[in-house]
Amino acid sequence: MLLQTAALDPQETIDVFIAGSGPIGATFAKRCVDAGLRVLMVELGAADSFTSKPMKGENRSVQFAPGQVPIPGYHKKNEIEYQKDIDRFVNVIKGALSTVSIPTSNNHIATLDPAVVSNSTAQPFISLGKNPCQDPFVNLGAEAVTRGVGGMTTHWTCATPEFTTDTERPKLSTDAAEDESIWKDLYAQAKSIIGTSTTQFDHSIRHNLVLKTYEDLYGRTRAFGPLPLACHRLSDPDYVEWHATDRILEELFTDPAKRARFTLLTNHRCTKLVFKHYRPKEENAVEYALVENLLPHTQSPGETAPVQKIKARAYVVACGAVATAQVLANSHIPPDETVIPFPGGTKGSGGGEPNAIIETPLMPMLGKFITEQPMTFCQVVLNSSLMEVVKNPPWPNMDWWKAKVAKHIAEFPNDPIPIPFRDPEPQVTIKFTEEHPWHVQIHRDAFSYGAVAENMDTRVIVDFRFFGYTQPQEANELTFQRHYRDAYDMPQPTFRFEMSADDRARARRMMDDMCNIALKIGGYLPGSEPQFMTPGLALHLAGTTRAGLDANKTVADTRCKVHNFDNLYVGGNNVIETGFAANPTLTSICYAIRASNDIISKLKPRRA
Ligand SMILES: Cc1cc2nc3c(=O)[nH]c(=O)nc-3n(C[C@H](O)[C@H](O)[C@H](O)COP(=O)(O)OP(=O)(O)OC[C@H]3O[C@@H](n4cnc5c(N)ncnc54)[C@H](O)[C@@H]3O)c2cc1C
Repeated sequence: MLLQTAALDPQETIDVFIAGSGPIGATFAKRCVDAGLRVLMVELGAADSFTSKPMKGENRSVQFAPGQVPIPGYHKKNEIEYQKDIDRFVNVIKGALSTVSIPTSNNHIATLDPAVVSNSTAQPFISLGKNPCQDPFVNLGAEAVTRGVGGMTTHWTCATPEFTTDTERPKLSTDAAEDESIWKDLYAQAKSIIGTSTTQFDHSIRHNLVLKTYEDLYGRTRAFGPLPLACHRLSDPDYVEWHATDRILEELFTDPAKRARFTLLTNHRCTKLVFKHYRPKEENAVEYALVENLLPHTQSPGETAPVQKIKARAYVVACGAVATAQVLANSHIPPDETVIPFPGGTKGSGGGEPNAIIETPLMPMLGKFITEQPMTFCQVVLNSSLMEVVKNPPWPNMDWWKAKVAKHIAEFPNDPIPIPFRDPEPQVTIKFTEEHPWHVQIHRDAFSYGAVAENMDTRVIVDFRFFGYTQPQEANELTFQRHYRDAYDMPQPTFRFEMSADDRARARRMMDDMCNIALKIGGYLPGSEPQFMTPGLALHLAGTTRAGLDANKTVADTRCKVHNFDNLYVGGNNVIETGFAANPTLTSICYAIRASNDIISKLKPRRA
C-alpha cells in the first residue's frame, strides 16, 4: 500500500530528513518530532502491515475504522493465524527477505534449450541481486533485506538483550564510569521505547519446564534466564502482541499536534545525498537529498513529483546495515558525474571501466571492518521423562501449572502430551560471558528455516539458536559496484568476509556447547540436526558505517554524526563497531536516541 501522510509540504522547511522507516529511522523520527522538530521520512518499500489506535483529540481526518487511525509497521506475527500456528510464519519471513548478493559463478544451466536466450561466464544474468563480482567463498550468502515500513521488525523475533561485557559493548566514553552510566541510561530509554520484558512467559509450562530443568542441571555454573523480548501478553493469556515499529511511531499518527510535524512517504527512494563539495578531509555538509517516487503514476492524493531535491537542516540515513552504506556510497558520485578528485592521483569513482567499485574518499572507512554472526542451529524433541515432570512438577508454587495440566488431561484424555495446546512456547537464554562468548536462544519460533513437519507435535519441539561474534577486521568489507545495480536501481553490494582463526575456533566451541546443552533435554529432530547456518543468516550484519571514538577507524563519531559533516547522521546496526553475539536492535536504538539528542540540541527546537 502507498502511504503518503502529506502533513508537510516537502518544499517547506524541514528540520530533519530521514531515509528508512525501520525501528531505527522511527526512533529518530519519534525523538525529533517529540522535541518539536518537523520531520520528513522516506521509505523505499510499501506500508503493508497496520494496527489501528484511537486518534487523540477531535482531529480524526484519516480514519481506519470509526475513531481509529492506522499505524504502519505492525508485526505480522500478531495475526491470529500465526499465533495459532507459528510454523506458517516461516513462509512470511521467506517472502519478506531479499538476498543481497547472489554470485553468478554457478549460474550455468546445462539443459537449457539451445535456441533460447542464455547467459555465459562473460555475460551472466545480472538482474535482482545476481552479482558477477561476488566471490562465493567470501560472500555472506544469506544476508538479506526487508523493504517496507517497519523494516525487518515486521517479522523479527523481538529478542532485545543488552550488550554487557567489554567484548560486545562499544565505548561511548574513555572514562569507564561515565561510559557505564551513559549505557545504563540509554538502555533504560531504549527498553521503554520498544517495550522489552522478561516476564511475559512466566506462566508458560514449557518455558518453566525448560528453564527450571536447566537451572537444576547447571546450578550457578551457567546463567540461564528468560530471554528479554519486546512483547506484552494480551488479556487472553494464550497470546502476546509482538512489538515492532508501529509502537515507536504510534504517537506520530494518533496525536494531531505531532502528526502535523511528521510526513512519511512510502515507495520513495532516497537515491543519494548531494554534498556541498567532494574534497576529502574538508568540512562538508549535505545540500539536499535526492528522492525519487518509485510509483509516480498511482494518482493518489498528495502525490509528489517523481524526483525531488529535499532540503533539511539535518539528514539521517537509517536504511539498514546494507542500504545505509549503499546510499552513502552512491552519494560519492557527484550529480554532474565528474571524477572525484583524489589528492595527488587520478583514481576516482567517475571512471568508466566496467564493473568499477564506487570509491568513497570522503568516508574512507565506509563498508570496512564489517562484522557478522556465525550461527549454529538444531531442534530437539523433548525427552519422554519430561512429560512426567509436566504431570508432577517438582518446583514450589506450581498450583497454576498443575491446574492447567489437570484440565487438559481431563478434556483430552487421548492426547499423548499433557501440555495444553495453547501453552506459550519456551523463551530461554544464557547470558554471554567471556568464558562462553555466545548468545543463546532456547525457544520455539519461526525463522526462514526450521518449520516443524505436520507429522510432529510442535509442543515437544525446542529450537536452539546460538549466535557467535566475529572480530572486526579492516579487510572484511562491503563494497558497491558502479555498473551493476540491485533491484531498486542502486549500486550492487558485494561482500568480502572471512573469519579469523580465533573466530573459527570460537564457532567450533559454540557448536560443541550447543550440542551438549541440547542433548540434556531431548534428541535431535530428524532433518534439524546440529548445523552451521549460511553466513549472514543471523541478519545481524554490522559495522558498515561504524561509529566510535577513533576517527581513523570509523565513519561517524559516538553520536553517529559522520566525520567532517556538520549535518549528516547514520543509524542502525551498521554503527556498532564491536564484534557482538547478542541481537543488536536494542543497542542500535540506544545509538539512535543519543544521535537524536545531538540533532535536537543543535537545531534549537521549535516549541512543541
Ligand atoms: C527473521 C528475523 C528475525 C530477527 N530477530 C531479531 C531479534 O530477535 N532481535 C534483534 O535485535 N534483531 C532481530 N532481527 C533484525 C532486526 O529486525 C534488525 O536489526 C532491525 O530491523 C534493523 O533496523 P533498521 O531500522 O536499522 O533497519 P531495517 O529494519 O532493515 O529498515 C531499514 C528500512 O530502510 C528502507 N530503505 C532501504 N534503502 C532505502 C532507500 N534508499 N531509501 C529509502 N528507504 C530505504 C528499507 O526498505 C527498510 O524498510 C531479525 C530480523 C529478521 C528478518
